[in-house]
Amino acid sequence: MSPVIPIHADIGCAQAPVLVERGQREVFCGLTGIIWLHRKMQDAFFLVVGSRTCAHLIQSAAGVMIFAEPRFATAILDERDLAGLADAHDELDRVVQRLLQRRPDIRLLFLVGSCPSEVIKLDLSRAAARLSHRFMPQVRVLNYSGSGIETTFTQGEDACLAALVPVLPASTQQHEPELLIVGTLADVVEEQLGRLFKAMGVDRFAFFPPRGSDALPAVGPQTRFLLAQPFLGNTAHALESRGAMRVASPFPLGAEGSAAWLHAAGGALGLRAETVEQAIAPARRRAEQALAAHRTLLAGKRVFFFPDSQLEVPLARFLARELGMLLTEVGSPYLHRQHLAEELAWLPAGTRLSEGQDVERQLDRCRAAAPDMVVCGLGLANPLEAEGVTTKWSIELVFTPIQGFEQAGDLAGLFSRPLTRRKLLAA
Ligand code: SF4
Repeated sequence: MSPVIPIHADIGCAQAPVLVERGQREVFCGLTGIIWLHRKMQDAFFLVVGSRTCAHLIQSAAGVMIFAEPRFATAILDERDLAGLADAHDELDRVVQRLLQRRPDIRLLFLVGSCPSEVIKLDLSRAAARLSHRFMPQVRVLNYSGSGIETTFTQGEDACLAALVPVLPASTQQHEPELLIVGTLADVVEEQLGRLFKAMGVDRFAFFPPRGSDALPAVGPQTRFLLAQPFLGNTAHALESRGAMRVASPFPLGAEGSAAWLHAAGGALGLRAETVEQAIAPARRRAEQALAAHRTLLAGKRVFFFPDSQLEVPLARFLARELGMLLTEVGSPYLHRQHLAEELAWLPAGTRLSEGQDVERQLDRCRAAAPDMVVCGLGLANPLEAEGVTTKWSIELVFTPIQGFEQAGDLAGLFSRPLTRRKLLAA
């Protein structure tokens, strides 16, 4: 029997209608991405050009994780800047100069736009070009927006990586990776996936973003790239404009998703399905075994997703197909039909899908559905818990290593633990 997973065999929700809402939203802004990006790119610095609110958000969200001098800060726009009474560009130049004198370890500096910098129309791309010209080759300066106007928190990573794509070196055939894995992954996940690629016989692969700015991968028409995260629409577009080709696949969540993702990579590189299966079979078996215990607890339980991270569709697919959970609604801030095509085909037919948010109406639907668990942002979790609803913070799913076979059991545990806890509290 062929071990190849028939990705396109299901129709599922591939053509399902989507409830589109454009009302009040309860989501974090793109600045949040700095929390995981600054830990990944170890010679990069993120300078938010924003208000005290922005500084507060970053400090309180990331503060507990700081063990050394942080690699992010906020250049505060004060009343004089906001009223147009000071030259914000001059002040920004002074801040950057002081920063680079104090931190000679910085090689890549991101100027990160915010709501206030967008409102006063501060042109950070002009500032980045000017500062890059001044500080290259020691420091490259780029810019992107993390503003909360019309964006959600994972779009910060997308904007950051998309800003980095134009400065990736052009490929020469010998030096370019044949496979580029795109999206921030925990180091431990990268190492596990790297071992699997090598077992499959793939040696020329690279991760983007890299850990250091001296390891930017080359890109060109020979590059095949595989998204590791579902929220990288602009990054994918930027890579495609450099000639690279996206490998269509579900995302590497759970045993099934990880297997399909690795098979898609193998297929794109011309490997035989049997070769891939042989390389991944032991890890896949371990993942399936790890899921079994959680399935007993989660099968038949009803879950409702509020839109937050854009991980909702792959997570819902994993919970439904591998753990037997029932999907009452799968909401996502943005449904990228093309990048999610394989995931949507795997969702059970009839699943209610929603895009965007009108929070009060969605809360009404959630209460009417009476799910056993709600996956939502921090702002909604506390009020829902107070109503007796079991919740899971969606942001935790972005901070925790959840991709790949070895993490499948831990990922299931993130959903089974809150239900166990509530059961114990109720006993
Ligand atoms: S970027 Fe906007 S939403 Fe984010 S903290 Fe600053 S003001 Fe608030």
